[in-house]
Amino acid sequence: MLHTVKSFDRIGEENAFAVLARATELQRQGRDVINLGIGQPDFRTPDHIVEAAIKALRDGHHGYTPATGILPLREAVAADLHKRLGVEVDPELVLIVPGGKVTMFMAILMFGEPGAEILYPDPGFPIYRSMIEFTGATPVPVPIREANGFAFSAEETLSLITPRTRLLIVNSPANPTGGVTPKAEIDKLVEGLRRHPDVAIMSDEIYGQMTYDGLAHQTLLAYPDIRDRLILLDGWSKTYAMTGWRMGFSVWPKRLYENARKLAVNSYSCVNASAQFAGLAALTGPQDAVRDMVAEFDRRRKVVTEGLNALPNVSAAVPKGAFYAFPNISKTGWKAKRLASALLEQAGVATIGGPDFGVHGEGYIRLSYANSTENIRKALARMGEFLATAK
Ligand code: PLP
Repeated sequence: MLHTVKSFDRIGEENAFAVLARATELQRQGRDVINLGIGQPDFRTPDHIVEAAIKALRDGHHGYTPATGILPLREAVAADLHKRLGVEVDPELVLIVPGGKVTMFMAILMFGEPGAEILYPDPGFPIYRSMIEFTGATPVPVPIREANGFAFSAEETLSLITPRTRLLIVNSPANPTGGVTPKAEIDKLVEGLRRHPDVAIMSDEIYGQMTYDGLAHQTLLAYPDIRDRLILLDGWSKTYAMTGWRMGFSVWPKRLYENARKLAVNSYSCVNASAQFAGLAALTGPQDAVRDMVAEFDRRRKVVTEGLNALPNVSAAVPKGAFYAFPNISKTGWKAKRLASALLEQAGVATIGGPDFGVHGEGYIRLSYANSTENIRKALARMGEFLATAK
């Protein structure tokens, strides 16, 4: 018998990958499956970004880079944050990581241990809770409610802080709900956090460039008095349709940066060199592909919400950000996970049950509208037929 450490009894995962595997398996068997399960843009990475990676390989960038990432890229990240969000960031505090997920992995490893409490959004990205449990810390869900427009409530969040709270995770625009927390609410949260100087904050802003209806993204980097305990999570995966490149970045407070760098050195050494040159081209090149993609998501979000609201006993708030709809299916008589599974197996539509994102996800399913309008319409028609006939 091998004696792996106990923490592996507690590690979770992301059900979206299991749904993807099952959908692919059904497709292999010849079934027609529309995948609204996985959270990745259905666009190709823009050509000039791909070309930059090829050029980097041809130019001989085949070796290790600094663990923190190549300096021009870290400078480009700082310049981009300044241009987009008006914030000053020291490139020395930017860390290039292999995907946004690695930032949360590092942050939760730094603060999670038995006895510590970590607050995280529920429903929210499933890896937050999985990693918190892995470290032995106590996961404290912050409920994200439809009645509140799927924004987090500053008051409720602050009320959950105790002397044992080490880290607060926030996410806006949000997965899986498409919620965007208004600036006034973020102001209120930051105001309250001044009374809790020992609580670190990780702000997951990976969908920061995907907001609609003219809503401006509010970054937590804009509040100088929490900067010395704020970790920003962002990256290229969603914005530039680069999920498979594994390119993310984080901004760390000075006192945590060395820990993060050491975690990099102890695990992956550095991010793939050619991918870093691709990331540089993404930030410094034309941004029209980003604008076009977000405009397309904007059109689809209307199609998907209109379609969902026309289904029997289903209601869906219009998502304000990201590329997910999170319809309320509690009146259909189905439990969310059973419905998601039946839709996949019987109707050929892959979605994710809300409980895969936390206990407060019951009564909802997540649909990613990163799929063609034609497929979205077809999927909605299948769902309508299924709900009208299935028990
Ligand atoms: N944070 C949130 C909220 C996400 O939805 C995702 C990906 O789905 C990530 C982080 C991780 O992104 P990456 O693919 O860059 O690791």
